[in-house]
Amino acid sequence: QKIIVVGAGILGASTAYQLSKRGAEVIIVDRKHKGQATDAAAGIICPWLSQRRNQAWYKLAKEGARFYPSLIAELEQSGETSTGYARVGALSIHKDTDKLQALEKRALTRKEDAPELGDVTMLSSEETKALFPPLDEDYAAVHVTGAARVDGRALRDALLRAAQKNGAVLLYEEATLVHNGTRVTGVRAGSETITADSVIVCAGAWANEIFQPLGVQFQVTFQKGQIVHLDYPDANTGNWPVVIPPNDQYLLAFDQQKMVVGATHENDVAGFDTRVTPGGLHEVFTKALDIAPRLADSTFVEARVGFRPFTPGFLPVLGPLPGWEGIFVANGLGASGLTMGPYVGYQMAKLALGLDMDIQLEHYAVSGAIVAECE
Ligand code: FAD
Repeated sequence: QKIIVVGAGILGASTAYQLSKRGAEVIIVDRKHKGQATDAAAGIICPWLSQRRNQAWYKLAKEGARFYPSLIAELEQSGETSTGYARVGALSIHKDTDKLQALEKRALTRKEDAPELGDVTMLSSEETKALFPPLDEDYAAVHVTGAARVDGRALRDALLRAAQKNGAVLLYEEATLVHNGTRVTGVRAGSETITADSVIVCAGAWANEIFQPLGVQFQVTFQKGQIVHLDYPDANTGNWPVVIPPNDQYLLAFDQQKMVVGATHENDVAGFDTRVTPGGLHEVFTKALDIAPRLADSTFVEARVGFRPFTPGFLPVLGPLPGWEGIFVANGLGASGLTMGPYVGYQMAKLALGLDMDIQLEHYAVSGAIVAECE
């Protein structure tokens, strides 16, 4: 089977890798848009503490987290050791003991069908600070040992390299769909027209545009996120847990003194605005320093910007494009795409190859993201 994957974020990279592993002839086409979500993402893999009740969403997030260890082991065996993935645990911090108790309860309930979340322990403020020294004194925490962090950029590249080792071809071009009647026959990429048995569109925030030539009005919206990378001097940060505060921010430590703090959640941006703004930085720094005052003296390294792709109802859409043949769509991973992306890519590869899937596609129908079809 010859399959084209449009988009090389975490979703496209994973899909391409899984397809190539199963012997498909794979061509990946990526436009390298500035603002790719995967390239800017923080990297928290900890779905179990979420208050979101939607079961279809939780299924992808939970299975996504569970999928990671075997994927990382497999990549390591094929020589891809640099993914930034580490099961460092998470600290969900709070100043209010009642809130922490409610969190602990939720984690323990979720553990019943997700034992991979590991041990759940209530930590005093001293114990919390011992695990993440820059934190303010007043925070206690619920510690979840199975949580992880991953470097989205590094994992994406490891998957793309592994796919290429299996014979996949990666082109950095803009892809335009080519069709004959209601069958998509391939893409136009740069000056080349490439035909294939099917095309899988993993185009994130930019997907609306690619469906226009088909008369299909796709409905992905996006949320801009600005996120900051710091260098935290003289500390062995590699094993520090992820910190999830009560506000909408987070702190992650990586190897080599790297600290990632953020992010903004900007809904009302005009177009694909990839600027780093004083307002965005101010918000990130104010919230981060409030939680971890000792970061004040770290070194600013860079700020990144990414667009989280959302489909209606904040629920991902996966499956065939209704009314069309030879085309599949996966989109809307929102704020949890690093968690879900590798697993969803695995499912998309199975779908395109006609293999049995482990999810019920009707929960993620692509029709949910289509406004109306023109003749
Ligand atoms: P993207 O990564 O955006 O990739 C889409 C790709 O498609 C792009 O490379 C683009 O160039 C390409 N493309 C589009 N149209 C075309 C075309 N016509 N031709 C060729 N190529 C095309 N998730 C977590 O699980 N944990 C986190 O801690 C986390 N933190 C985040 C923090 C921030 C600041 C942001 C922005 C996101 C975060 N996320 C997190 C969410 C996660 O990053 C996204 O859900 C995920 O990366 C989406 O992946 P994707 O492959 O669908 O899209």
